[in-house]
Amino acid sequence: MKKEDRQRVLIFDTTLRDGEQCPGASLNHREKIEIAQQLARLNVDVIEAGFPVASPDDFQAVRAVAAAIKGPRIAGLARCLNKDIERCAQALAPAGKRARIHVFLATSRIHREFKLRKNKTQILRQAAQAVRFARKFSNDVEFSPEDATRTERDYLAEVVRAVIAEGATTVNIPDTVGYSVPTEFGALIDYLFQHVPNIAAATINVHCHNDLGLAVANTLAALCAGARGVECTINGIGERAGNCALEELVMALRTRNDVLGLTANIRTQELYRSSRLVSRLTGLAVQRNKAVVGANAFAHEAGIHQDGMLKERSTYEIMRPQDIGIDGSELVLGKHSGRHAFADRLAKMGFTLERSELDRAYRRFIDLADKKKVVYDDDLLAIARDEMEEGLSGAGAYQLDYLYVSTGTATIPNATVRLRKGKDVIQDAACGDGPVDAALKTIDRITGVPGKLLDYSIQAVTIGKDAQGEVSVRVAFGDAVVSGKAASTDIVRASAAAYLHCVNRVLAARTLSKRKT
Ligand code: MN
Repeated sequence: MKKEDRQRVLIFDTTLRDGEQCPGASLNHREKIEIAQQLARLNVDVIEAGFPVASPDDFQAVRAVAAAIKGPRIAGLARCLNKDIERCAQALAPAGKRARIHVFLATSRIHREFKLRKNKTQILRQAAQAVRFARKFSNDVEFSPEDATRTERDYLAEVVRAVIAEGATTVNIPDTVGYSVPTEFGALIDYLFQHVPNIAAATINVHCHNDLGLAVANTLAALCAGARGVECTINGIGERAGNCALEELVMALRTRNDVLGLTANIRTQELYRSSRLVSRLTGLAVQRNKAVVGANAFAHEAGIHQDGMLKERSTYEIMRPQDIGIDGSELVLGKHSGRHAFADRLAKMGFTLERSELDRAYRRFIDLADKKKVVYDDDLLAIARDEMEEGLSGAGAYQLDYLYVSTGTATIPNATVRLRKGKDVIQDAACGDGPVDAALKTIDRITGVPGKLLDYSIQAVTIGKDAQGEVSVRVAFGDAVVSGKAASTDIVRASAAAYLHCVNRVLAARTLSKRKT
């Protein structure tokens, strides 16, 4: 093996699988494809697109990503069951030779005894059988012994040896519950390299969770011990406290290549854009002080630091904002910008809107540019997102036609709402505890589909008093829980639109299930 190959770290992104398991992060197909396209621009080596057997919807999403994305390998997750593996292979078929089947089975004592109720021999046999079966469909098969860090070491080594012997080309060692610490995790990887005779035949990946805030540190320790694949997510989203953050790991490799001597083939200039896109589409905000991509990551507050920065940037800056794609020219468009410049900017941000969506988005942009002096990239992201949502709802969806609210300290808040549905125009009015409550109650009266608001949050899209507010809501309609988002310079309007997106989503789902039965 050439020296540069030994130094190369493969980036396996699981934003669309583990990341999407994050509470409240569910993404629709269109959003998954947008993210996958951005991951391809970022140049990740593998995109884990989902868990095809989990639901027909997951299956379709994996298939859509496998069909749309060129470049990276596309992985699908499967349990060690033939029906899972077959389903996974079907979903991945459009990716051709770039399809990776990723099978997993828990190996720790606690999982064996309480979850699977199987002994060591049975687990070993099932893992080997599944890898052998998966190899019938693809030459690229990955195996994960779930809860590896709480598995007896000698038994783990035995499992790893067996699955490699059956043809696993990647073996992933997950710290499923985020329990390990760096010295221990590095030692575990080292142990496997010492005790698995055929280990050189596979790439060793690691998949670290952040329950103790150690996911990136554990990953680096594993790389130093010989692992060469990293499973990670944009912004570190994922189950519970999340996964190893891609942007942190990649920038650690790049910034400290002097000590680590490892490289990843990531276009780091796409990191910031990837972070914003994932945050916007999942509705999961990035904490301000988050490493690399947080709003404060390159902000210098103390006078003495600012003085140093002005004299020589490297006094207080170990990375340059440009390296992750913050170019300092966030200000992009104004009301004199043409349609072409607008479409071009959206395309650069990774959005490919259909013609009708683009028309509507452009009208909204002109409208917004009238209200706001400057329109930032994030404003455009919010508009593009909204229009994608509208596009999804289809012709049978409700659209907000008109909204009037009256509120104040000495009056009962009330709202008048007019909705359009195809050719129908329906109007009604109601009172509420506040203007938002009044608007949502009126929408309930019109649609006859009352929802229960579980979660409501509002965030400024950009800076300034004229910033758009983006409202995220989670709404329960009986057993179905859906989420919606919308942005506007008027927060009551944004609230009504976000809520209406939820109504449309639940109605679309109901029509779909009626058709099936
Ligand atoms: Mn995980």
